[in-house]
Amino acid sequence: MNTRYGRIQKAARALAAKAEPYAVEADRSSDLHQGALRDLRASGLVRLAVPSEWGGTFKSVDPVAICVVREILMPASAHLDSLFAMQGIGSYPITVAGTPEQKARWLPRVARIESLAALALTEPDAGSDLRGITTSIKSSRGGLRLSGVKSFITNAAVAGFFTTLARDDDGLSMVLVPADARGVSVKPGPELSAPHVIGTITFDDVHLPESARLGKHGLGLDYALATLAVFRASVGAAAVGLAQRALDEAVRHTSTRRQFGKPLAQQGAVAGMLVDSWAEVEMARLIVYRAASLARESSADALVEASLAKLAATEAAGRIVDRCVQVMGRFGLVRDSVIERLYREARPLRIYEGASEVLRSSLSRTLIHKVTQTAELSDR
Ligand SMILES: Cc1cc2nc3c(=O)[nH]c(=O)nc-3n(C[C@H](O)[C@H](O)[C@H](O)COP(=O)(O)OP(=O)(O)OC[C@H]3O[C@@H](n4cnc5c(N)ncnc54)[C@H](O)[C@@H]3O)c2cc1C
Repeated sequence: MNTRYGRIQKAARALAAKAEPYAVEADRSSDLHQGALRDLRASGLVRLAVPSEWGGTFKSVDPVAICVVREILMPASAHLDSLFAMQGIGSYPITVAGTPEQKARWLPRVARIESLAALALTEPDAGSDLRGITTSIKSSRGGLRLSGVKSFITNAAVAGFFTTLARDDDGLSMVLVPADARGVSVKPGPELSAPHVIGTITFDDVHLPESARLGKHGLGLDYALATLAVFRASVGAAAVGLAQRALDEAVRHTSTRRQFGKPLAQQGAVAGMLVDSWAEVEMARLIVYRAASLARESSADALVEASLAKLAATEAAGRIVDRCVQVMGRFGLVRDSVIERLYREARPLRIYEGASEVLRSSLSRTLIHKVTQTAELSDR
């Protein structure tokens, strides 16, 4: 690691070590954990989530740095990882499309965690297919009126603002909604198998000034995709960190536990599962950091690579953590043990920020286009 990332890695490791005593409690909680919030704030790591002009660390948000942190935080505490990641994901539409006034008002607060961020895309009847959202913005006497319901929104009950995708006259647009605006109400939940700070937000004819718009009319989905281009690979990094810790746990357990006269790790089938997992973790790490490096150079072209990396790494983590539970036998099932926690936390990674099947479906179109275009060129 060069010094830029070495320093970040060191700070993230120190934070992960601090979180160890309360990690089980935080990851069991669907309310904000004050210890995690305090320690994350003190670490200064969230400054990575915004550009330096607005109180951040680097000139522009560096996807590699975000991956370095998430690879370390996720295996320590999913709650902490989510708090870190959401400051970037929830505020990135402001970074990419906000006016200087919007940036000056919100981004320094995001960097200092004086305000928690949330990105509100999903609705009860629209998840993977965001073109189906019904939350609407209507122009009214020089202002805007926002109505609709957003569900499964991370940080819903604790955020200071929601970057919100809504239907507009010209398609889908984004608006920046302060959480204390009149007509906004939040209901926490539902409870998930891997607890998460989520909730349902209702916008009941919320009156907003025209200046609440984020960027241009009709470009809301582009801003959401720009956010994913920078942050999607980091879901893969979280998966890599999780899988690595699961493998470490399984190796420790199986190399000391003996059955049939020798350590489990030396029994053919178990050894094979451990080594296959090792190879998969290394492959996942490479594809994730390759995607993050490409996103750092040009986030506009990075979405395909980020999607491929997210798909490969989260699917690998699912397989690896399942194998690790298997080779640990009954000890892999003990509630709130490290391995059981990792097993539960691995599951949502394959669903949020692009379910695996949705990614496969869009990536298959890119693949076909890429191959057929190359064939056409070589035929000429
Ligand atoms: C822990 C957690 C946190 C979340 N946080 C947020 C947040 O902060 N903000 C936010 O806006 N949303 C958030 N979400 C919602 C998340 O983005 C959605 O769950 C995700 O987009 C998938 O939508 P869905 O669950 O409605 O699944 P659906 O769209 O109903 O799809 C269900 C399944 O059908 C399959 N499928 C769907 N479409 C296709 C297709 N075209 N081709 C092949 N298969 C397909 C996939 O297997 C998919 O998993 C969160 C979800 C979770 C679990």
